[in-house]
Amino acid sequence: MDRFWQKCARCARTVRFSLNGRCACGGTLLVQYDLERIRAAVRKSALKDRPAAMWRYKELLPIARERSIVTLGEGWTPLLRMKPLERKLGIRYIGVKREEQNPTGSFKSRGFASTISLLKEHGIDYVAVPSNGNAASAMAAYAARAGMRAAAIVPRDCPGIIIEGCLRYGAATYVVDGLIHDASRIIEEGAAEQGWFHAGTLKEPGRVEGKKTMGLELAEQLDWKLPDVIIYPTGGGSGMIGMWKAFQELLELKWIGGKLPRMVSVQEAGCQPLADAMRTGAFVPPAAEEVTSKPTGLRVPNPPDGELVVHIIKQSQGTAIGVTTEQIDEAQKQMGRLGISSSPEGAATLAGLVQLREAGWIRPGESVVLFNTSHADKYVSWTPSAAVPVVRSYSELRQHQQQTGGS
Ligand SMILES: *Cc1c(COP(=O)(O)O)cnc(C)c1O
Repeated sequence: MDRFWQKCARCARTVRFSLNGRCACGGTLLVQYDLERIRAAVRKSALKDRPAAMWRYKELLPIARERSIVTLGEGWTPLLRMKPLERKLGIRYIGVKREEQNPTGSFKSRGFASTISLLKEHGIDYVAVPSNGNAASAMAAYAARAGMRAAAIVPRDCPGIIIEGCLRYGAATYVVDGLIHDASRIIEEGAAEQGWFHAGTLKEPGRVEGKKTMGLELAEQLDWKLPDVIIYPTGGGSGMIGMWKAFQELLELKWIGGKLPRMVSVQEAGCQPLADAMRTGAFVPPAAEEVTSKPTGLRVPNPPDGELVVHIIKQSQGTAIGVTTEQIDEAQKQMGRLGISSSPEGAATLAGLVQLREAGWIRPGESVVLFNTSHADKYVSWTPSAAVPVVRSYSELRQHQQQTGGS
């Protein structure tokens, strides 16, 4: 029997493991493991002797051979208790999971450690990703570590420091005059000709599995007792999908018991399809001209499986909310004054917490964990110093390659 396989989250069809992340029905293929066997082989108390990295959960990651693992030291980030915030907001426990401490400055390191390891194991040598920024720089860094070629396509208004990160890691880097799905379309069009493997959100099974380790780690760091509420800044949704999957696996392993956290998605009000879907009951992505929020990891008008994210939020009895740019700025300052550098996405979780506490949705006796997904410094400069080609379509990208004789 294979150690892992995939199952569609929508139609429940089971398939042999492959690099494909989508079922024929359009649903997301999630990796399944023989949890009975893992339960018999691994005791949770034995984990503490393992390396302080996400690979301590290697049995729950879809990499068959240990030598395929590509690592830059990701995971096992601190969970920091925030007593001044607890006092200020009148909440029993508030923890911040410091994901900005990952090797590429965001939790995207986890996703790409897993994805690039998987692609390496399957013989892929050229990877491409559409991204609002952090996924591109993580892909570029891990591809460099693996000796793989990489191409990054990000929106024109992506923070300059992130674009320069992609260049530094040696990725072919383009900015698109459009949103993240325009970047994705270019990669789809060029994949065959360029030899790109499209590693966009939910295109392949590795990223969700890597992000899943945030949930596994949180459980272990809290001595296998999960908080009442998790607030997560959501864009493409694979973080929410991964964490919820972690909790299901932990329940089956009997490493945790009882109630799972209420999952809260926070988005910026200028692009909040999840909050809208929770309110109206239907998932309708906003049109590009309606999107007014900043180019952060939250600006994803049309996530590949928004229905699954909404389903998870509902199943957890959670909620999805939008916070304003001003509320994010204020929360970012507040985090800074407490010694934590937070990106707009990370700060959005605090803005969400304030809003939900004021509304009475979070009660004084509860415990809450915020995910600080990246740090502030990446967002300081919005203009790159190096010239990066601007493209609107794949044919413009090709034209640029021909003019410069490069690829
Ligand atoms: C990508 C990203 C997000 C959104 O995460 P998803 O798992 O794609 O929903 C949030 N914060 C930061 C800093 C990101 O880079």
